[in-house]
Order: sequence, then structure tokens, then C-alpha cells
Amino acid sequence: MSYQPGRHFLQIPGPTNTPLPVLAAIGRPTIDHRGPEFGTLGRDVLSGIRTIFKTTNPVVIYPASGTGAWEAALVNTLSPGDRVLMFETGWFATLWNRMATKLGLAPELIKGDWRSGVNADAVETRLREDRAREIKAVAVVHNETSTGVTSNIAAVRRAIDRSGHPALLLVDTISSLGSIDYRHDEWDVDVTVGGSQKGLMLPPGLSFNAVSDRALAASKRARLPRSFWDWDDMLASNTNGYFPYTPATNLLQGLKVAIEMLHQEGLDNVFRRHQRAAEATRQAVRHWGFEIQCDNDEEYSSSLTAVRLPEGHSADALRADILGRCNMSLGNGLGPLADKVFRIGHLGDFHDLMVTGALSGVEIGLKARGIPYHPGGVDAAMSYLAGNAGAPAEAA
Ligand code: PLP
Repeated sequence: MSYQPGRHFLQIPGPTNTPLPVLAAIGRPTIDHRGPEFGTLGRDVLSGIRTIFKTTNPVVIYPASGTGAWEAALVNTLSPGDRVLMFETGWFATLWNRMATKLGLAPELIKGDWRSGVNADAVETRLREDRAREIKAVAVVHNETSTGVTSNIAAVRRAIDRSGHPALLLVDTISSLGSIDYRHDEWDVDVTVGGSQKGLMLPPGLSFNAVSDRALAASKRARLPRSFWDWDDMLASNTNGYFPYTPATNLLQGLKVAIEMLHQEGLDNVFRRHQRAAEATRQAVRHWGFEIQCDNDEEYSSSLTAVRLPEGHSADALRADILGRCNMSLGNGLGPLADKVFRIGHLGDFHDLMVTGALSGVEIGLKARGIPYHPGGVDAAMSYLAGNAGAPAEAA
């Protein structure tokens, strides 16, 4: 491919743009992961990451992508043949469900329409029916990255509590952590799964399990085979800031800085910045005259928007055109949404200009491809951003 001038616009819903201070920290020389300097780094990131999950309990950090942390959540808490209740919010819920089957579990997937979040009432109903207490865990995706739908985890927790069922609650926050408010302790979640490459503004390569006391107790009884993912070995080494095998040292150097940056901005400001970008994006999409994949206003994702193109127009061709013209990557449609939707990522390290720049790129592509749309979506987004209290409090 020939050189494309200008900075690449990475507007997929993760991996996201890595800020320069994080890149600089990752670029520092690798240190001895068994030496004294590492102990300090390890302790810093292991305690710092708890503040992002909003937990005082341990968070295990793996040198793996998010899929690894999915597997870790299942193999540490469950035994062969255990039933797991899952909800089909979209592609990632489907993949986690497939993984459970491959691991020898017996997942049950409540059907969804890929346009809305977890139906907490359906979870409650199914748990009430399970008088034999065969279901050992409820596993749901907080922010479904394939559809741009965020589920209400507090409502799922209340549904489980109302049913009086002892199932564990496992939650995937891979595309919400650090972008959308999430409260591991307050919502009484047992295992929260996270990844480095989205709201945490790091490259891919780290993933997380935040672990409740109940989950730890379950891990003592769980019989699925595990070695690399075993919490016991991890937690034993983590006490002093170390790891049982070679950690992703340089990514941890970056993680320390990323956590500091999130707190410098203030988590609430970070969440507000994501909400504003998401609303500006939706204003543009509505103005263009396109449908948003998420059907329910209360479940709009703050970290991405999936946009449906009118019948007969290829979302993949539009994305390819925009990449060629504007040097911008947009997310593709996944599974049954392939070629029907494109996804605009607005998460991680970004500001208003990057959001409106991304929307401009979309509008250029729509015009160039002759897709019928109502011009002025970027204007609508700009008016919203200009009129909407703008910069977060500290920067004012
Ligand atoms: N869960 C969600 C919600 C995701 O968005 C992704 C990846 O985008 C995954 C799981 C899988 O994570 P990874 O690709 O890092 O293995």
C-alpha cells in the first residue's frame, strides 16, 4: 500500500488511540520482572486497577486479550457440565456462549434481537424456574460492542436477588471499562472481565478478572481444568506485586500511566466526555436519516454507535471507501450484521475535534458513494457539542 498522508483516524470501537504518555511509558526499556523495581510497578497497577473497576477486591491481570479473561472467568468458577445462563445481546455474547460449550459447560442462551440489552425480567423468570439450582452462573455482556447497546447490570443483579437464586454473576466490560460507569462492588458482581485496548487507552494485550469473595470461594470447588488462568497462583504472587509467569512488563508500565490519566481527568468527567461524543454522533446519524442499531434510548452505548445503512447499500464498501479517501478506520458489522451496519467508535482518548472529524469522514464517504442521506449531520453534531456545556469542568 502506498503512503497515506495525515494521521490515521482509528475510529473502530477498540483498539483505540493510545495517548503519547502511555506510548512513552510502554516504550521505556523493559525491566526485570523479578527485580525490586518491578515489585513497585506491580503493586501500583494491581491496586490502581481496582479503582477503575470500583472494587476493593483483587483484580487479576493476564498477559492476554479479552478472550483469555473470558476463559479465566469460566474455568476458575465452574465445573464440567455446569449450566450457565447467558443472554444473546449480539456477537460477543454469542462468542462467549460458544466458548462455554467448548469448555464443557452447558450454557443456555436466552434469545435476543441484537438491538436491545439483557432483559432482566427474563433472567429472573429463568432463575425462578431453576428449582434444582442447576444454573451456576449468569454471564452477560455490559456493553455489546457489535450493536452499541449497554445493558443495565444493576437491574440484572436485582433480578438475581429477587429470584433468590445463588448463581454467580459474571460480566464482560471489555468495551465499557473506563468509558461507561461500572461498579463491580456496588452491583455485587462476582467476576468482571476487562481488556486493555478500549477505554483504558492501551494497546491490546492485557485483560482482567475482578473477583468477588463469592467467586474466590467458588474457585476452590470449581473443577474445570486450568493452569495458565489459575487465580490461586496469580493471587499468591500478586501479594508482593509479582506474577507467577512473565507478565507483559511494558504494557503494565503503560497501564500505570493510563490509570493516572483517567484519574487526572476524573472518572465522572471521562464518562461524561463519552456520553457527549455518543450523543453528538447520534444527532449526526439521525440527521443523515439512518437508523441506529440500538432500539432503546436508555440502552445507547456511550462508547460506540452502530449505524444501519439503507437496504441495498454496502456498509463494507462505504468503510473501504472512507479508509481509502480519508485514512479512517470504522468498525465493521459482525455476524448477521456484516455489511449492514458500520460502527463508529467514540471511546478512549479523544476530544470534540476527533469526533467531528470522524463524522466528517463518514459524510464525505456517503456523498462520494451516492448513498441517499440528508446533508448536515456534522453540523447537527457540532451544534450539539457547542451548545452542550462543552469541556469537562476542570478544563473550563
Ligand atoms: N467482549 C467484548 C464486549 C468485546 O468487544 C471483545 C472484543 O472486541 C471481546 C469480548 C473479545 O476480546 P479480545 O478481542 O480482546 O479477545
